[in-house]
Amino acid sequence: MDTKYIRWISALIYATVMVVGWWYPPVALVAFALMGLVLLTGKRKKWCGSYCPRGSFLDMVMKHLSPKKPVPKWMTGKRIWYISLGVFLAMFTSQILLTGLWNDFSWWRFGVVAYRMCLITSLVALPLALWRNHRAWCSVCPVGNLLRR
Ligand code: SF4
Repeated sequence: MDTKYIRWISALIYATVMVVGWWYPPVALVAFALMGLVLLTGKRKKWCGSYCPRGSFLDMVMKHLSPKKPVPKWMTGKRIWYISLGVFLAMFTSQILLTGLWNDFSWWRFGVVAYRMCLITSLVALPLALWRNHRAWCSVCPVGNLLRR
């Protein structure tokens, strides 16, 4: 399939997850499943450029709203990435504890954790796109930086 179509589908998945997930959080697990599928098929390095739902949404939609200014230098170094990874892991752990997922697994609780992580990171990614560059978030994204290694 043409990469452009894949990216539109991926962007649509992101929008659907963000809206529907507010009422039905387990839908956020679709994004996790998609990532698992891409990793299993050995396309890890293509995740950010072609498959990531948020990355596709940033490219297909936010690009048209972004001033497309260069990403500030302080956002591209290793230090900021380590900070971002630390904050991400702390948030992930606290959500696992807060939802009770650690003691009592359920797909609903797992979905709540996944959706909250998507929501919180989107609350950073989308304003960054409007302020600076549609892909500014990607320079500090903990997941993308791990996958691109
Ligand atoms: S850096 Fe993060 S948000 Fe950006 S495309 Fe990669 S995984 Fe998605």
